[in-house]
Amino acid sequence: MVRAHNFNAGPSALPLDVLKKAQEELIDFKGTGMSVMELSHRSKEFEDVLADAKDRLKKLMEIPDTHEILFLQGGASLQFSMLPMNFLQEGKVGAYVVTGSWSKKALKEAKNFGETVVVASTEDDSFTHIPEVTVNTLPENTGYLHITTNNTIYGTQWQDFPDFGDVPVFADMSSDILSKKVDVSKFAVIYGGAQKNLGPSGVTIVILRKDLLNQQNSGLPTMLDYTTHIKANSLFNTPPTFGIYMLSLVLEWVEQNGGVEGIQKRNEEKAALLYDLMDEFPEFYTPHAQKDSRSLMNVTFTMPNEELTKDFLQKAKAEGFIGLNGHRSIGGCRASIYNAVPIETCQALAEFMKAYREAHL
Ligand code: PMP
Repeated sequence: MVRAHNFNAGPSALPLDVLKKAQEELIDFKGTGMSVMELSHRSKEFEDVLADAKDRLKKLMEIPDTHEILFLQGGASLQFSMLPMNFLQEGKVGAYVVTGSWSKKALKEAKNFGETVVVASTEDDSFTHIPEVTVNTLPENTGYLHITTNNTIYGTQWQDFPDFGDVPVFADMSSDILSKKVDVSKFAVIYGGAQKNLGPSGVTIVILRKDLLNQQNSGLPTMLDYTTHIKANSLFNTPPTFGIYMLSLVLEWVEQNGGVEGIQKRNEEKAALLYDLMDEFPEFYTPHAQKDSRSLMNVTFTMPNEELTKDFLQKAKAEGFIGLNGHRSIGGCRASIYNAVPIETCQALAEFMKAYREAHL
């Protein structure tokens, strides 16, 4: 069996142990005589799967009882609309920190539902860093503050989170959820698609502070109202059952690998392998992100010219390094090294990059 060195940005690598367990259980899940995909979502067996996924996520992220965990559909992209639809009220503004394409998309959707303000943007600096934002930067009538904790395309990441006082903070954590320790109590909402750190695409994780529902807009379509899903424990309609099952297996794997702390340590080691190399040869592999904003998840860099970039990507692919091309909107190169990417894969890439540079000086 040959596994690729998978640097895809999402959907992305899953732990081999998880895939093997899913394979083992595929035909006959726990003596039911059927796969998880064939179970009723109302069955005891599936309810156990859902409870297991919720329970493991709650423990791993230390999610307080003040917050509810939801498994929804529609991706992070639907949350861009659902959040303002539910919580942007008249007389208040939705404050946005614009740190990349995904924050811009979130902002665009919010504009459909009320007043918004950009409290900081790094667009003029090609999104190379995370701006400084404090509670004093926010307008007095701020209803909520929206941030993107990791910018998948540009490879920047918030290193820590300021205290925004009573302002509810909504965080798109699509590309760094569960990759490092985060104090969930600082956030009113954390959301993200599962397809980077948590499982296959199709499940959207939403962690929502329940008191937000006291100030929720009314008259919403049933499926787009958070209350619907909270009341029904994410079983209002048919959920993505197989995705939730895979999520529970990935969470079990995280537990077996030292929990969030263990994963974080490994992620730091993995990223250092690549950033150290870039710092050694910055003229050849030029990092996109400023040092104080570097992402542990998406390592972005450019090379001296287009031709070399193309050749590098081609040779890398031929050697089994998949998904190293930068996002189509900015080009260059990007190594996405989410939780499930093994350290050996990063070592192999660092060695390949070193050798490639020597051969092309
Ligand atoms: N936010 C971020 C930070 C992302 O990286 C992505 C997907 N790459 C999205 C939002 C959109 O997610 P989805 O495809 O699940 O709607």
